[in-house]
Amino acid sequence: MGIGDRHQKKDVEAALKRAEAAGLKVTHDKNRHRWGWVICCPCNQSQAVYSTPRNTGDEASKIDLFIKNHRGHA
Ligand SMILES: [Zn+2]
Repeated sequence: MGIGDRHQKKDVEAALKRAEAAGLKVTHDKNRHRWGWVICCPCNQSQAVYSTPRNTGDEASKIDLFIKNHRGHA
């Protein structure tokens, strides 16, 4: 991700960094409510990431679960 693509919630931003470190693709699509996506290229599944989640810890956990399910099968 480039400069300006950081998520405003630090818990979520940290999870997105973990996703990138795990080899997943993170895209920022600047939709009003949706911040972007975490994408697993090998199996073409994706996880939506919201801009203003009700609970940032839950949003981060959702991303971490996606990482756990998809890391390492590239
Ligand atoms: Zn996958």
